[in-house]
Amino acid sequence: MKILIVEDEPKTGDYLRQGLAEAGFVVDLARDGLDGLHLALNGDYDLVVLDVMLPSLDGWGVLQTVRRSGREMPVLFLTARDQVEDRVRGLELGADDYLVKPFAFSELLARVRTLLRRGKPKEAELMHAADLELDLLRRRVTRAGVRIDLTAKEFALLELLLRRQGEVLPRSLIASQVWDMNFDSDTNVIEVAVRRLRAKVDDPFEPKLIRTVRGMGYVLEVPEA
Ligand code: CA
Repeated sequence: MKILIVEDEPKTGDYLRQGLAEAGFVVDLARDGLDGLHLALNGDYDLVVLDVMLPSLDGWGVLQTVRRSGREMPVLFLTARDQVEDRVRGLELGADDYLVKPFAFSELLARVRTLLRRGKPKEAELMHAADLELDLLRRRVTRAGVRIDLTAKEFALLELLLRRQGEVLPRSLIASQVWDMNFDSDTNVIEVAVRRLRAKVDDPFEPKLIRTVRGMGYVLEVPEA
């Protein structure tokens, strides 16, 4: 997880950078608004901690440009005074949360973690094909509302097939993605796993979703009616 801090006050900036790095994040620190904006637009950040009062371009300006560019990473902004107008303005411009200075680092860390959890797009957590649903977060699979128990490998295999829905996946690709190894000639392991997965998610249901493409591999798709 990569975090950008935009903070001109040297002590606060260093303190936040060190604290977040110790908490396991990859951290970049910008000390003015333009530098912060440049990094926010060009680095691949999961979250931005943004001070409001900044030299060269203030936090509002940074936030506005970041949102206009279509970037949707969560932004936690830091304000010096607890002014209702400041908060409202920040939230209107697309900030996700705010903290009033001075704050305890533990408070900031808790907010950062909450925002990172919330920031994950919903569609990445739930995958569907017809009435089959895979919930990545809860590690749960249902079909027609019926809970299906899968082994870890079966789950990973189904996740891969759902992610690449409609694409024929060669056995070699499945082997490298699900088993993290290369099967040169013996692809029996995959055939067995696919057969077991089908027995659970396809055999008792209609329509059949997983198809063998002879000589090529496997595809998961909803057949046309
Ligand atoms: Ca400042």
